[in-house]
Amino acid sequence: MFIGHFGVGFGAKAAAPKTSLGTLFLASQFIDLLWPSLLLVGAERVRIAPGITKVTPLDFEYYPISHSLLAVLGWAFLVAMVYQVLKRYPRGSIVVGLLVVSHWFLDLIVHRPDLQLAPGSNIKVGFDLWASLPGTLILELFIFIVGVALYLRQTVAKDAVGKWALWSLIVFLVGIYLGNLFGPPPPNVNALAWVGQSQWLLILWGYWVDRH
Ligand SMILES: [Zn+2]
Repeated sequence: MFIGHFGVGFGAKAAAPKTSLGTLFLASQFIDLLWPSLLLVGAERVRIAPGITKVTPLDFEYYPISHSLLAVLGWAFLVAMVYQVLKRYPRGSIVVGLLVVSHWFLDLIVHRPDLQLAPGSNIKVGFDLWASLPGTLILELFIFIVGVALYLRQTVAKDAVGKWALWSLIVFLVGIYLGNLFGPPPPNVNALAWVGQSQWLLILWGYWVDRH
């Protein structure tokens, strides 16, 4: 799942108005931001296997640090604590922690049964909505549209940048999503990991939008 996680980040603005959109994205996408670094250092593994699902060509062989439920609960606690120490905004801290956890449950809907409950556990779960391209598109676009609508209701652009930076971000996210879905598979895992790292720019974009 890609755009759905950003949709949840947008929508969370209604629950924690004082938390920056950049932080909301950072939280909802946190474990997918860790994942490329874990791939690059060899701590986690993915295989490019076109056709393995209707939607993604990725076979998530081993990713217990970023994507096992127990580890995600730990990351959520950590991210919420760091946010609380930095911002002293309990409501925001709770929302940020829940966003980190939300990622795992949204992944649970779409992934094949490759999500471990805990590192080392033999139980792997996933409801495999990725077996259906229309099903995946409907779910992700629905979450994204609802999230953006909540964000628009909650915020007012202070200037022209506030308007255009937001709308260009929305269009850009939809563009990358469709490019991922209908474009060619990544040539190798290294390229995939570096494209994954570029998501940090989307987080910065979120902070920029929020300031305006
Ligand atoms: Zn994920």
